[in-house]
This record gives sequence, C-alpha cells and structure tokens, in this order.
Amino acid sequence: MGKKIRRQLLGISFFAAAITLLLAVVIFYQVFNGEVFAGMESTANVLRWLPRETLVQYVNDLDEDDESRLTLIDETGQVLADNRMDADALENHNDREEVSEARTDGEGTSIRRSSSIRESAYYYACLLEDGTVLRVCRERENVLSLIYHMFLPLSAIVAVLIAVCIMVSRLAVRSLMEPFDQLTDNLDNEVFLKDFPYPELTPLMETIRVQHADILNNATMRQDFTASVSHELKTPLASISGYSELIANGMVGEGDASKFAEKIHSNAQRLLTLINDIIRLNELDTSEQQEAFEKVDLYQVVQDCVSMLQLNAHKHKVTLEAEGESAFIRANRNMMDEVVYNLCDNAIRYNNEDGNVLVKVQPMKDKVRLMVMDNGIGIPEAHQSRIFERFYRVDKSRSKATGGTGLGLAIVKHILLVHDAEVKVESRVGKGTVITVDFHAYKESNG
Ligand code: ATP
Ligand code: MG
Repeated sequence: MGKKIRRQLLGISFFAAAITLLLAVVIFYQVFNGEVFAGMESTANVLRWLPRETLVQYVNDLDEDDESRLTLIDETGQVLADNRMDADALENHNDREEVSEARTDGEGTSIRRSSSIRESAYYYACLLEDGTVLRVCRERENVLSLIYHMFLPLSAIVAVLIAVCIMVSRLAVRSLMEPFDQLTDNLDNEVFLKDFPYPELTPLMETIRVQHADILNNATMRQDFTASVSHELKTPLASISGYSELIANGMVGEGDASKFAEKIHSNAQRLLTLINDIIRLNELDTSEQQEAFEKVDLYQVVQDCVSMLQLNAHKHKVTLEAEGESAFIRANRNMMDEVVYNLCDNAIRYNNEDGNVLVKVQPMKDKVRLMVMDNGIGIPEAHQSRIFERFYRVDKSRSKATGGTGLGLAIVKHILLVHDAEVKVESRVGKGTVITVDFHAYKESNG
C-alpha cells in the first residue's frame, strides 16, 4: 500500500512539475515578446519626430549589422530606405501585416517570417505625421533555441523538484502508514480505534475489531466449554466408579445392592443425556448447511409434546395443558420438537407439587407466539439473562437432583437463532415463569 501511495504521489508531482515548466516556458515567452516589442517601440518613438529627409539619411547611414532593421515606407508602399536591404530592390510593402495595420490604427505589430531576409522576425510599425510608415524589425531567436538556452537551468530545477518530491512523498507515506503499523498491536484498544485518524475507515476498523473480538471470544468459549464438559462428565463417572468399587470389594450387603445399582444406573443415564446434549450442540454449531425447513403447525408440535410429557408431569404431580389454535411457521420440525420439549421439561421440572404448566400457541398478525407458563419456583432476576448460557444452572444442587445439565436452553437459544425467532423471559421467584417466543408466521411466498 505504501509503495502504491508513493508511486501515485510521485506521479502527481511529476505531472505538476511538467505543467509548471510548460507554463513557465509559455509565460517567459510572452514576457520576452513583450519586452522586444517595447524596445522596438521606444526606438521608433525616438525617431518618429525627425523630418522625412533626415530620417531617410539616418536609416541609410545606419550600420547594416545594427540590432534593428529600420525600413521607411511611403504612402504608396514604396520603400524609401532600409539599412539592410537595397530599398529599390524591395517590392511594395503596403500589404505587410504591420504596415497596413499602422496605416489604419496608427501602429501595428506582427511576428512572422520575413520574405526579404528569410528569417522569423518581430515587426513594429508606426504611422508618421506625413504619411510615411517607420518600421522596426528585429530577428527573432527561434523558440527552440530559446528553450535550448533555458534547458540547463530548467533541468536543474526539475532535478531538484524530483528529489524534493521523492523525499516529501517518503515522509508523507511514512506518516500516512504509521497508524496502520500500530493497528495490528492495538486491535483490542478501543481508545486507539476511537482516535484512529481515518474516519472513512471506521466501519472497516469496527468490523475487524468485532471479528477479532469474536475470534478471541470463541476461543475462550471453546476452552470454557471443554473445561465444563470435563467437569460435568467427571462427577457422574466418579460416582459410578465409587459405587461399583464398593460392590466389587464386597462392601455392599445383599439388601443394598439394588439401591447401589440404581445409583449407578441414574448416573450412567445422566452421562448419556449429557453426551447427547453435547453432541446436539456440536451439531448445531458446526452444521453448515441449513436443515430442511417446512411448513409446520406449531400447535400440532405443542399438542404432541404435551401428550408425550404427560407421564413425566404426572410423576412430578404437575398438570400440563396445551391451549390455542393451528398456527403455521416456516421451521424445521425436529428442532421445533426440541424447543417445545425443553421449555415444557423445564416448566415441569422447576415446579412445585400441584403446580400447573400451560403451553399456548397464539397466531398474531404476522407472528406466531408460543408461551410456556408455569407457576413454579421462578428464576431470580439476576439469573434471567444467563440461563441460556451453556451449563448455566440457577441452583446447581436442585438442577443436579433433577438431572439437569444446563444445556437445554443453550440448545433452544441456538435453534431460535436459526429460525430468527425472539425469546423473552418473565419470571418471579416463588410465583412462576413465562417464556415467550415469537416466530415469523408462515408466508406462502417464502415456502
Ligand atoms: P437440561 O435442560 O440440559 O437437562 P437444565 O434444565 O438445568 O438442564 P436449562 O434447561 O438450560 O438447563 O435451564 C437452565 C437453568 O435455568 C435451569 O437449571 C434452571 O435453574 C433455570 N430454569 C429454566 N427454566 C426454568 C423454569 N421454567 N422455572 C425456573 N427455573 C428455570
Ligand atoms: Mg432444561
């Protein structure tokens, strides 16, 4: 990038230098011409008041090599005198541009090739009182020779200019690039990013910062997750190992054997659910392609789930009911089963004896609302925002007693994200919990 900027800066300066030089030459040329004409005019002004004979005499006596060529032309165009040429041999001069101009306007100028002396020349002519035209002519160094004389000083200037440009562009690019060099070390530094001197790049910086943070975040989350998984697996495995060792050592009496076997069984069960949940989460995390979405009747899902969980609810001495009407959403059927199952499972599990759970499906304008309401133990406000985190449990001991791993709502959150659905938790300790999920209603066009 630095190289490119430097190249462009140099390009611009070369261009500027070239234009400046060109303009300098043109302006110099104009000024030079002006000076020449001014000189010729003052020569003419000195001579114009002399009487005609004196003037003729003067011109004839003038040195042939004088800086100026003087010509006197009478009213008819006849050349009266010329210090360089033989006057009699010269043709009629009235048609010369500067002469005819002088006859009409009093004075005239031209820059042209002389037909008499065959060289490019400046001409100045003025009309005298007696009708004679006095013409002053000076040969002109041609433009090429002019430029040729200017060439050395000009190229020196150009060389200096280029050197200065190279130096300045180096410095400029260095100071331009400096913030970028520092950027790599300061990706997390909010103050640095806020003061970043290129506001045009703020959106890009922001994206980079967020991605960087995401990467770091993901890395720590994965680490945390692995640590949590190991920890969660260790507890039931330790129990299984402990109980089975007791049995193996013959330290468990006949009567207790079934009690210990039951403990081993429940811990093994816990391990299984845990591993299933982890596998499921991993699937959701890594599955690149979208799972099949279809037209799903959410109320049908709820009814199926409610009847499946009836036995479970009965065990917990909780009533479980569905309420509502058919409402269609675009969703993956299996994932919807998981969502409703997990929410109902929680509502039953974190409930009291004789508690109630009501699952409602409510079609709204362009949304379908799912509500899982219980009058169970509730969730303290401080925990409400965290229950969707992996392995997060409000009350570890209670959750463990009921076999919870803290992954159910993490799976729910993940699925709802895929479905672009919004979830809301309202809960009061001792009163109960309402979980509300808003789905987009099914639209024929996108099905
Ligand atoms: P899993 O669902 O994986 O078996 P879990 O139920 O402990 O385990 P989540 O479903 O993710 O995990 O719930 C996280 C925590 O949120 C629970 O441990 C519980 O403390 C709290 N919670 C969830 N639903 C309710 C509810 N309806 N009432 C009270 N607390 C709840
Ligand atoms: Mg749960």
